[in-house]
Amino acid sequence: MKIITIIGARPQFIKAAALSREISNHNNIEEIIVHTGQHFDANMSEIFFEQMEIPSPQYNLNINGLGHGAMTGQMLEKIEEVLIKEKPDWVLIYGDTNSTIAGALAAKKLHIKVAHVEAGLRSFNMKMPEEVNRILTDRISDILFCPTETAIDNLQKEGYDNIDCKIVKSGDIMQDAAIFYSKKEQNPNIEIPKEFILATIHRAENTDDINRLGAILGALNEIGEKTPVILPLHPRTAKIIQDSDFVIKNLTIIDPVGYLEMVYMLKRCKLVMTDSGGLQKEAFFFTKPCLTMRDETEWVELIENNFNILVGANKEIIINTNNNYKFNTNFNVDLYGNGSAAKSIVNSLINYN
Ligand code: UDP
Repeated sequence: MKIITIIGARPQFIKAAALSREISNHNNIEEIIVHTGQHFDANMSEIFFEQMEIPSPQYNLNINGLGHGAMTGQMLEKIEEVLIKEKPDWVLIYGDTNSTIAGALAAKKLHIKVAHVEAGLRSFNMKMPEEVNRILTDRISDILFCPTETAIDNLQKEGYDNIDCKIVKSGDIMQDAAIFYSKKEQNPNIEIPKEFILATIHRAENTDDINRLGAILGALNEIGEKTPVILPLHPRTAKIIQDSDFVIKNLTIIDPVGYLEMVYMLKRCKLVMTDSGGLQKEAFFFTKPCLTMRDETEWVELIENNFNILVGANKEIIINTNNNYKFNTNFNVDLYGNGSAAKSIVNSLINYN
């Protein structure tokens, strides 16, 4: 069996690391990795391939720095060329980026089977580019690997029982990654305070809205007066802050780090504050409460179980929640499977008929 894996963004490298490891245990499966180039900085791309020992991409499409239309269009064209040449049995795609939708669309029109890992997630906010990518990708996928029961429910509500595709509850591939790479944690070479908050901000709805970004940074500045805040900053956010007159106080801003450094900090921090999808779950995997600076989340089970709270981009709410909120500290609940998503996914592909 020949699989072409399409990846292009940081969270996809992390997920592919776990799945490629499992694929490599099967001599009868050949995996060819296509890197679309969506993330290209050394610390947003290369470091993950090195640290997590992801097989080198056989194709580097180098498509980045473009608007949604040009980026997705160029990916579609280039991925199609690769698929025509390689004639895989499956195209494997992850999550909700432009690389995901481009891979799905190129494959489907060539009648190549599409496997979507992290299917069925919804924020119900159609203004998010990720939501559009997910919905369209799910609809043309042949096999949909759902990380959670909620994801399966979402698909059922959209009528997927009557759509010709296979839905598998695989568990969450990021849990596999967290378990495997936990042992390999690496100190990020900065002074790590005894008690600190780990924060990230990168989602377009926050970075592209100056009021939202200002409120979030204002809240972090104030929280940082009492508790140190470490903020590995996404290049998109860094550029916007650089071009603005935002005042940064009390924050330790660092360049993006590799996954092993993130694991190190996740294990030691007191709290996670983020607008990232993946990090909300990692907070849970590493038994840390999470304050999510968004108005909605795809990972609703974390909210329902009180491990995570949505605080939007309101300065007062963020500060008050940080000061007063009582999170659930009993993390001994299975929300995302037990770290065997990769096995489940590979077995389903092998036994697909
Ligand atoms: N991450 C990382 N280095 C960083 C910041 C984040 O390795 O400096 C990891 C993080 O631990 C998580 C993933 O990147 O596994 C999340 O990616 P991101 O927040 O870019 O995307 P999202 O999950 O929101 O799609």
